[in-house]
Amino acid sequence: MNNSIKNNNLDSLKPLEIDWNLIQSDMKNKLGLDIYESWLKKINFIEEFNNYVLLSVPTRFIRDWITSRYLDQILQIIKSNKKSIVRIEFKIVEQPIDRNFEKDDQTLKEKGENISFIKDTYLQYNRIDSNKRFENFITSSSNKLAYEASKKVSENISNYNPLYIYGGVGMGKTHLLNSIGYKLKKMNKVMFISAERFMYQFVKSIKSNDMVKFKEYFRNTDVLLIDDIQFMNGKEAMQEEFFHTFNALIDKGSQIIVSSDRAPNKLSRIQDRIKSRFSGGLVVDIQKPDNELRKKIVQKKTEELSNLYSEQIKIPKEIQDFISNEISTSVRELVGAINRVVSFSRIYNKIPNLSETKIILKDLLNLSENKVTIDVIQTEVCKFFKISKNEMLSSRRSRYLVRPRQIAIYLTKILTSKSLPEIGREYSNRDHTTIIHSVKTIEKLKDKDEEMVENINKLKNKILYNNRENEI
Ligand code: ADP
Ligand code: MG
Repeated sequence: MNNSIKNNNLDSLKPLEIDWNLIQSDMKNKLGLDIYESWLKKINFIEEFNNYVLLSVPTRFIRDWITSRYLDQILQIIKSNKKSIVRIEFKIVEQPIDRNFEKDDQTLKEKGENISFIKDTYLQYNRIDSNKRFENFITSSSNKLAYEASKKVSENISNYNPLYIYGGVGMGKTHLLNSIGYKLKKMNKVMFISAERFMYQFVKSIKSNDMVKFKEYFRNTDVLLIDDIQFMNGKEAMQEEFFHTFNALIDKGSQIIVSSDRAPNKLSRIQDRIKSRFSGGLVVDIQKPDNELRKKIVQKKTEELSNLYSEQIKIPKEIQDFISNEISTSVRELVGAINRVVSFSRIYNKIPNLSETKIILKDLLNLSENKVTIDVIQTEVCKFFKISKNEMLSSRRSRYLVRPRQIAIYLTKILTSKSLPEIGREYSNRDHTTIIHSVKTIEKLKDKDEEMVENINKLKNKILYNNRENEI
């Protein structure tokens, strides 16, 4: 107790709460972009306790992968942010929702109360990533318009003003904004900031009576790039300020580029006059990557990554095709998937086969869990262990029945979203404590019994992908 008070006094400039954004960027720097994009980015911060933090990951596979390889380093990074943390716990949260905004909003509130801010932090957020340029933006008909418009803007200021680019998550909006910033910063004062950060700075400036500086800072720029404007919803006073900044900049001939996840008229809780300002320039959308784009990206990225390492990893066409066919939601996921496959190959010194690839990418694949029924699980497990369904569901405790039954229960728990009592009902009305016991038993056995792990992987593979030829 005493100790922590003393530490707080000494470290009064350090944040009291863990700053997850900071930790993420530390992870990126220390472990490399490749590992970060493939695995660590998936970690979300849930809660901080006295001496440990609770984090979430989308699948067990990712959790196991992270804990077996990067846990020490992650803990070190967290400790350098907050000494008192001695342990990390992971919770598996399947299908995570993007709560970045809420999270940021909350840290904003919490931090506003008790942190003395370092002055002039705008620059901290004005980092332009030199890896995201026009030259490495791959185009097809799904993003060509946005690309062309961005290029025009970066060649001839005030061609379209504002330029408003919208599209779903991971489609390349930030990449384009970044490319514009990168190109224009040589000759112009460029300000690149996310709407969240804009709000954050705004609130901070009010609290520290620094509004004059805030205004000056933003109104002094030649090019203002605001990313993810949809997050600016609600906050009236801030919208007011933004509106004035916006007008002042347009009046003096500065270029404004805005990105969003939706069209201007679909923005919720954003003043109408701001929306109509947005619509007044050029509005372009980026659509989901079409087949052509996905193929190009997979090819280009695998090439890039393979050449990056001396081992020269050659991902076969079969795996490349699988990735480009199955992962169609966003470019980000596509790039993440390739990173994972390459990471896997480097660490195991072997290229994953198709079934391994499916497991590595499980959380990204569209093979929906809803398709997994208890019936399929029971049928596959019975077939595998050559027992009948009646035997499995019976109350007989012969050894040759108990293990398969426990495995089936375990797989039902991890592959479906059924609750314990629901699972109990499907296994001849067993009590939920029996279900927990089975799950725990298998989890424990998995730690020391390699054959068990292998069997479970084979079964998972069959159940999830109905894949009988290509087993791990
Ligand atoms: P958004 O801002 O739309 O959510 P990003 O710009 O962050 O998406 O893109 C996600 C990832 O995919 C980034 O690593 C980005 O460099 C990459 N990316 C997106 N679109 C392309 C593209 N057309 N060509 C090359 N890389 C792309
Ligand atoms: Mg973005």
